[in-house]
Amino acid sequence: MKDSVLTYKPKSQDRLIQCVAADGMVRIAFIDGTNLVREARKLLHLSRVATAALGRQLMMTVIMSADLKGENDLVSTILKGDGPAGSMICTGNSRLEVKGSVANPEVELPINELGKLDVGGFVGRNGKLSVVSDLGLKEPYVGLCNLVSGEVAIDFANYYAASLQRPVLIYLGVRVKAEDGSVRAAAGVFAEPLPGCPDDVIDRLQAKSDEIAHFSERLDAGETPEQLLESAFGEFGLSYVGEREPLYRCDCSRERIERALISIGDDELSQMIEEDHGAEVTCRFCDKKYQFTEEDLRALLNAATMREDDKE
Ligand SMILES: [Zn+2]
Repeated sequence: MKDSVLTYKPKSQDRLIQCVAADGMVRIAFIDGTNLVREARKLLHLSRVATAALGRQLMMTVIMSADLKGENDLVSTILKGDGPAGSMICTGNSRLEVKGSVANPEVELPINELGKLDVGGFVGRNGKLSVVSDLGLKEPYVGLCNLVSGEVAIDFANYYAASLQRPVLIYLGVRVKAEDGSVRAAAGVFAEPLPGCPDDVIDRLQAKSDEIAHFSERLDAGETPEQLLESAFGEFGLSYVGEREPLYRCDCSRERIERALISIGDDELSQMIEEDHGAEVTCRFCDKKYQFTEEDLRALLNAATMREDDKE
């Protein structure tokens, strides 16, 4: 393993730590997403800047997934900016399994004027952030707002403020090794004042943004999540509520890909049969390849036609 040459202590399992502070008036979540971001980078062949961008979005999606109640509930976050990334989508479930995809994962950008990976330039500063919550109801709930910077954390904080009227504090950071693009550490923090929280606590909480801005560096340098939480929020009186294990996991299967092929319609399926005599379908979330022979495709076309007949 290449990673073993790094100086920090490797952690085998990611962590989502949930706390409350200020006598239960603030809820805080901390994620160490180092492993899941590594997994995404490896599976999806992410460039340095794509690793940082999708890594941030994946961690935020985990934090949002922790609020899901039902076994089959899902939350998807979609960043559609005007940068070279193209559309970025992450989906998480109530077991904190998360997966993600970037339209153009291999695009690399020069370091920005702050000496950082140019996530804002990659995602784009103009565009939309949408959040689709599928809670098993007839229709999923869709929230939408404009991007403000493309830097991801600030866009999500704006989403909470503008769309949900919830003033939250969010930090998301991925440390990438300059030489080979490998992931050194990835961390995120979400802090939300609950209804009735005194204004002075909200102000003091918002003032923490500079302090939490270096959490991924500090995690990389060997500080534990508990130490980081205590250093930033200890003054509010922290109580630990629980801990869970997020994981990068794609749930694709041949059956699922078959359903997707059937849904693209007769014309396209016929074209694949007549012109290509088969198809190779790559899962966008894990890069797994599924092969379909001409015969397989004919069977799917039959299924598609039968379904059309059913409708009539
Ligand atoms: Zn997959």
